Amino acid sequence: MNMDAAVEVLNTTFGFDQFRQSQEDVISALLKGEDALVLMPTGAGKSLCYQIPAIVRDGVGVVISPLIALMQDQVSALSQLGVKAAFLNSTLDYEDEINVENQLTNGKLDLLYIAPERLNSPRMLALLDRLQIALFAIDEAHCVSQWGHDFRSDYLQLSLIEQRYPSVPRIALTATADDRTRREIIQNLHLADAQHFINSFDRPNIQYRINLKTKAKEQLLEFIKAEHQDDAGIVYCLSRNSVDKTAQWLSQHGIKALPYHAGLTKDERANNQKRFLREDSIVVVATIAFGLGIDKPNVRFVAHIDLPKSIEAYYQETGRAGRDGLAATAWMVYGLQDVVKLRQMMSNSDANEIYKRVERQKLDALLGLCEIVTCRRQSMLAYFDDKLDEPCENCDTCLVPVETWDATQAAQKALSCAYRTEQRFGAGHLIDVLTGKDNTKVRQFGHQSISTYGVGKDLSANQWKSVYRQLIARGLLTVDVDGYGSLKLTEQARSVLQGEQQLLLRKDPDEKIIRKGKTTSTLIGEDADLWEALRACRKELAEEQGVPPYVIFHDATLQEMVARRPFSETEMRTISGVGEKKLRSYAQPFLTIIEEFAIDAPAAQTSTTPAAVKKTDTVAETLALIKQGFKLDEVADKRKLTKSTISSHIEKLMHLGEVTLAEVIELSDEEINRVKELLLEQVPSDADTYPIKPVYEILGGEYSYEVIRCIRANLINEFEAEMA
Ligand SMILES: [Zn+2]
Repeated sequence: MNMDAAVEVLNTTFGFDQFRQSQEDVISALLKGEDALVLMPTGAGKSLCYQIPAIVRDGVGVVISPLIALMQDQVSALSQLGVKAAFLNSTLDYEDEINVENQLTNGKLDLLYIAPERLNSPRMLALLDRLQIALFAIDEAHCVSQWGHDFRSDYLQLSLIEQRYPSVPRIALTATADDRTRREIIQNLHLADAQHFINSFDRPNIQYRINLKTKAKEQLLEFIKAEHQDDAGIVYCLSRNSVDKTAQWLSQHGIKALPYHAGLTKDERANNQKRFLREDSIVVVATIAFGLGIDKPNVRFVAHIDLPKSIEAYYQETGRAGRDGLAATAWMVYGLQDVVKLRQMMSNSDANEIYKRVERQKLDALLGLCEIVTCRRQSMLAYFDDKLDEPCENCDTCLVPVETWDATQAAQKALSCAYRTEQRFGAGHLIDVLTGKDNTKVRQFGHQSISTYGVGKDLSANQWKSVYRQLIARGLLTVDVDGYGSLKLTEQARSVLQGEQQLLLRKDPDEKIIRKGKTTSTLIGEDADLWEALRACRKELAEEQGVPPYVIFHDATLQEMVARRPFSETEMRTISGVGEKKLRSYAQPFLTIIEEFAIDAPAAQTSTTPAAVKKTDTVAETLALIKQGFKLDEVADKRKLTKSTISSHIEKLMHLGEVTLAEVIELSDEEINRVKELLLEQVPSDADTYPIKPVYEILGGEYSYEVIRCIRANLINEFEAEMA
């Protein structure tokens, strides 16, 4: 099978002009009927790797995904592109299920999404046996790994695909795979003969920053206000209690924040997740349980106010930021208490020794990343056996190089203080002894008379905290298992104590220095206004369609519109992310806005005049037909444009006073007034207009969106007439 068909689908359906990373090679392998294992970071276009061959090959592509809650959104996103897709899962009622099954048996679908447990059911297998299958795609394939943190036992059954359908190509995809997980995927899914496509795991648009924790909530608020006001983001905390408190704290300070953890009811969780996906600037505060399969492309930051358990977890969680390729921030604060707490949790765990050892190694690696004084990205990628030749210039240690100091002597004091107090105390008390505090606890144990009492007055308590934190992080001290956090020397401490090893520690920098500029690309002036107008238009269309805004167009697509200002459908077609179906459905309202901006600000335009005239032609053509007596629906039919497009023309013409409501729709005054009253009952949206969707729903679909839109335009005209 040749690649021309695949390129055609890429261009016309998805609206992209070229493949990224190894997409082309993966697709080519599948078209040849070969199996593939794809390791690709999030946001690099993983799903295209199976969607395009599923469309090109005969039959239906079956996608196994653990993310039931998101299948609906994935399917609506495909429908927006004109791809025939459906899902089968427990959220469907019997009738819908039969309907999907009929579409399948009639060969009407290109893609089918199912959960792994469903694949194992006799009914599903019997159905699949009757179908022509284009391919099987196993998404989030790391769920098959028992060592990973997202293990799903259902995934182990997926090896049956190969046995039952040996001639159908299979593709397994994941965005997180260290070597061990990778080997498990190959083994458990029988992919030894598959072609492997290992892409770079670098996410260059994400800025990594790890700061010293002082007052976590205040630091978080300051970070959001300074850099991500009105952006969507995710904040991770370790406990439910801290999730609730943090969400409340942010809300009290004007950030739209919602909690998400296992203690909420199912409905609350579903509702909060839905709002996060559908609205533009929601911050979700969550335990680590939130996020597998969060497919929102414009998450602008991920913040950790508690440490994750491993670099894999950190990479995966931060990877939910910036999937659209635009600038995003991964921000974390951590401190002495976190290190102590995690070390302790690990010691107290009931897991077997081998498991504990692996967990310990993972934690060591993460702490190493936190304390590193060289490029964080290089270190993180090296952990995944990925190589970055030069420092990245987009992490905190690159942006503001960390100073180190010779802490050999300080470390000796800190270690011997722990030793002299019989390794029975935590950092707090040890610091009191070092700095010569005279308090009850010091006296109670007679610590004012030991040799390390008061020898550390040259450093502040905070500096000592930093020393202890780094000693624990480097494994020179361990935290006991008794639960009191007392620090014990390890074998490694010996060489430092004996002066055989010099120890360089990092000086904790001030975050404010790092915040040299906003990381998100900031639009100013007219560009910012146009951006807001395009976003408002997208939001309205999304509400009409009942889908998240990014399903209409990604932020990156809107930004390209701002930068390039297309004035015709031909120009619009060249914008990345605008395929044929979206061009037909949505181009006009966006073109209209762009044109209005050009008219309002003629200085900003250069060679745009001919295009602008051409654009006005399309509205003029609509006007001419209306004047000939054709109504909204008829104009749409005649011009082979959508009703939505025509209604956007009408809205504009009504605003200009060129047409009246009676010329475009046929309704009695009584009917029109009823719709107007309902519109007036709604709360105006941000864009200062009355939302259509609730009115449409109250009326049970009696009038189309476009009709309500025309009535709204008339209503606004009346207001303006009154004001004048
Ligand atoms: Zn760097």
